[in-house]
Amino acid sequence: MEKTAQLYEGKAKKVFATADERLCIVSYKDSATAFNGEKKGTIYGKGVINNRLTNRLMRLLEENGIPTHFIEELNDRETVVRKAAIVPLEVIIRNISAGSFAKRFGVEEGVVFESPTFEFSYKSDALGDPLMNDYHALALGLATEPELETIRAYAFRINDILKAFLLEHGITLVDFKLEFGRLPDGTIILADEISPDTCRFWDVRTHEKLDKDRFRRDLGGVEAAYEEVLRRLLGDEK
Ligand code: ADP
Ligand code: UDP
Repeated sequence: MEKTAQLYEGKAKKVFATADERLCIVSYKDSATAFNGEKKGTIYGKGVINNRLTNRLMRLLEENGIPTHFIEELNDRETVVRKAAIVPLEVIIRNISAGSFAKRFGVEEGVVFESPTFEFSYKSDALGDPLMNDYHALALGLATEPELETIRAYAFRINDILKAFLLEHGITLVDFKLEFGRLPDGTIILADEISPDTCRFWDVRTHEKLDKDRFRRDLGGVEAAYEEVLRRLLGDEK
């Protein structure tokens, strides 16, 4: 499978067309951004790590009945995926308070919720990804009611599957962002990535941050944290 035209270059990945119009190739970059692109930098080796981690977690989800875009890892940085029309919603699940939740509601980080929370942000860099509810998404025609229900049900199941798997590897899943897409026949699938760029991972014992917060907050040890997650989750694979 070969890349043809570049379709899109985002902040963390490039997307290429292939000879098969149902498929595309995503290529993971080392560039990192935070605060809606205001902070820019490089996390060396991140593209390779996020590619491999995402694919491992997408395979786990497929095995557990979640339809995903994953087809085949081509090489260190590139993966063949099903091409989807992305629903422009960032779907966020939280198990523990952190980040914008802690700030918005004036609580400290680390409050463990009795049940996970669910929220959408409108995927729009120009608007700074504003928080939105179902009614807003419906009013703007971003998705239908049944699609929102499907997305919500998948998101909670994905949380259960990922939480359990990560815990087995000494990682607490604090919160994460998902993106879903539509196939030409209307099927909703999980797309984009699942990585330390898009999740908050804490060491289960020490609560040390093993994710992009190390970059966002200039905590140092950014590359080492990404490598540690890779080691814990794929250490026994090649
Ligand atoms: P951003 O667009 O936020 O800067 P990236 O740099 O990660 O993000 O770019 C990857 C882009 O590819 C995103 O816009 C994402 O929505 C899109 N994408 C992810 N998976 C698929 C897919 N299976 N089909 C089509 N587009 C996808
Ligand atoms: N997130 C993401 N992309 C975004 C915004 C958030 O992947 O554009 C992830 C983020 O890594 C975290 C979760 O979604 O795991 C919740 O992020 P939050 O709303 O707390 O925002 P942040 O503190 O990242 O601004």
